[in-house]
Amino acid sequence: MSESKMRVAVVGAGAAGSAAAYRLWQKLGHAVSITVYERKEHVGGRAWDLQFAGTRIEVGGTLLHSSGRYTMELMEFTGSQAGGSGLSIDGKNETYAFWTGKGFVVTTRTSLQSMAANILRYVGLGSARRVVSSATGMASKWERVYDLLGSGQTFTTPQALLEELGLREATQLSLASYLGKLGANRRMTHDIVEPIIHNMYNQGAEIGALAGLVGLAGAGLAGGYLFAIEDGNWTIYDKTLAKIGADLRLNTQVTAIEMLSGSSAHGEGDLNGDELGGAGETREGADAAGGVGAGGARTCCAVTTADGASEYYDAVILAAPLALADLELRANGAPLDATVYPYQEVQTTLVVGTLNPAFFGADPRKRLPSTVFTADSAGAPFKSIGVTGHSPTYDSRIYKIFSADHEMTDEELGRIFSTIHDVHRFVWRGAYPVISPDIDHLPFELAPGLFYACAFETAAGAIEVESVAGYNTANLLAQYLT
Ligand SMILES: Cc1cc2nc3c(=O)[nH]c(=O)nc-3n(C[C@H](O)[C@H](O)[C@H](O)COP(=O)(O)OP(=O)(O)OC[C@H]3O[C@@H](n4cnc5c(N)ncnc54)[C@H](O)[C@@H]3O)c2cc1C
Repeated sequence: MSESKMRVAVVGAGAAGSAAAYRLWQKLGHAVSITVYERKEHVGGRAWDLQFAGTRIEVGGTLLHSSGRYTMELMEFTGSQAGGSGLSIDGKNETYAFWTGKGFVVTTRTSLQSMAANILRYVGLGSARRVVSSATGMASKWERVYDLLGSGQTFTTPQALLEELGLREATQLSLASYLGKLGANRRMTHDIVEPIIHNMYNQGAEIGALAGLVGLAGAGLAGGYLFAIEDGNWTIYDKTLAKIGADLRLNTQVTAIEMLSGSSAHGEGDLNGDELGGAGETREGADAAGGVGAGGARTCCAVTTADGASEYYDAVILAAPLALADLELRANGAPLDATVYPYQEVQTTLVVGTLNPAFFGADPRKRLPSTVFTADSAGAPFKSIGVTGHSPTYDSRIYKIFSADHEMTDEELGRIFSTIHDVHRFVWRGAYPVISPDIDHLPFELAPGLFYACAFETAAGAIEVESVAGYNTANLLAQYLT
């Protein structure tokens, strides 16, 4: 490493951290050395897959949307290919359905056009048009973010970003109130929108309206198409970090980030061993961090890992949700004040088998829909159940069930499926935050030199949205250092 390089640490190698590292490399090139800390043995975070029943299944962030420019950019950068969405196993015979507990109110082929047409028939033209045009309007306002961030603009808070895009109001209302104001009817809100949002955020129409609209646009209501990365969504992050030459430290849990003012990472201030505190932390350690940055005294960031060692950086991007990161934030020895918003547990169950028509009150002679969305009022033990692949081992479909914090019991699976070949259960300790209209989002800059890439997730979250937030924190950091 060159003596003159600025040193930056990124904590978390998911979509947000990888996008931030890429953007830093793009903006600062060889002037910066980037260390990425990741506590797991792999990158990707909540974009992750596993081998099951002879094939590969995405168990976290699965569906990408064609409007996601940063995801597309990283695909191109890494030479990754788009594969199928996993929603269509048998091609045109796959169907989505909305289930109220009493039956399927809308059943539709996997094509987004056919979904739109059938929803329209069920809810009526007025409601459908208002909701679709609202999701489309949100998507086109959101698109401006790429020009703004591309030109180097920065946003210190999610509120400032939303204000600039003209989307602030949508975070101040619940989805139910927002749709009510639009004049959407009950069928649209409760039988269609709520089940879709359920599947994506584990919440109903009480969710903040922006997250709801992002969910609807992401489901294809605003056009475009859905896909997944051929070799696994996480692989674009793996390849990106390798290609930019980041120093990736897998299996390395960060336990504390401490901002130490009055010194730069290269030791121009007056820190002493006591101020640094902790095992292995010395003034020499700070000096050895190198990095000239803009020169002169600036905050130095000490990143401590589970083995007790600390390293020193000119700036740090925290790209892991505070609720899940299990680390301490400190400024000059005192805890840093940052609200920890709760994240929701999501149980994911994979089942190779055949659905039981009797459970859904469906005609046993008819083919069952491959993906079933429900609202809580349906009384089902799951939030959604959908086909997600084909098992070559059993020559049978694989279904993915999301059931919030409820573990699907064998008895429940026995009622939902008429045949079961294999089952795998997987728990996301924190899948998404609880999104409500009144959240006072954390800023993208928690302290001078410490940036928070997951700050936007309390307004809306998805792989692309987290990438956008990652880009913004990288822009902020570049501005801070130069
Ligand atoms: C079940 C499920 C389904 C989803 N479906 C979709 C979908 O279809 N489409 C979509 O766009 N989005 C979907 N999402 C959301 C999407 O996956 C997330 O919004 C996105 O992946 C979050 O990226 P991130 O980088 O912000 O956070 P994460 O992916 O959580 O990355 C944070 C990283 O930080 C690491 N880390 C945490 N603490 C520390 C520490 N102390 N030290 C070192 N490393 C640490 C973690 O191990 C992790 O790798 C889904 C999410 C879930 C859970």
